[in-house]
Amino acid sequence: MFVSDILSQKGGSVFTVTPGTSVAQVAQQLSVRRIGSVLVLDEDGGVAGIVSERDLVRALASHGAAALELEARQVMTRDVVTCDPDESIDQVMATMTSGRFRHLPVVRHGELLGLVSIGDIVKARIEETTHETEALKAYIVAG
Ligand code: AMP
Repeated sequence: MFVSDILSQKGGSVFTVTPGTSVAQVAQQLSVRRIGSVLVLDEDGGVAGIVSERDLVRALASHGAAALELEARQVMTRDVVTCDPDESIDQVMATMTSGRFRHLPVVRHGELLGLVSIGDIVKARIEETTHETEALKAYIVAG
């Protein structure tokens, strides 16, 4: 299974914010949309960074309640690792494990096509394993 298969199931919508969005607004959006990260886009629509729940926890630990007044640009990770839709699930699992993050924007030729999370990867992996098991059972019964 490939990243493109996941996107064809879940769609390519990615929630984004501007670098000036407050941490309070980011937290509100993560909660309302039940997501774990937002991408930060610059004025040209390029990926400027990513803010995940973990960045908000870090900001709260460092700044206390004042963290809510900070802007996304002050708490985001700037070097965003992305993946290609043709990458396999195993490849993106390896990228997430070695990078120690749970979100990967999907980009091809500079165009943002979607975002996959560790939850999407685990779901796809379970589906794949279930299909394989069923195929093996059918093969054994047929034999
Ligand atoms: P996460 O596990 O995705 O909640 O993120 C853990 C840390 O990695 C946070 O500091 C995020 O900003 C950062 N992060 C999340 N996704 C990526 C990514 N695709 N590339 C680089 N950093 C990331």
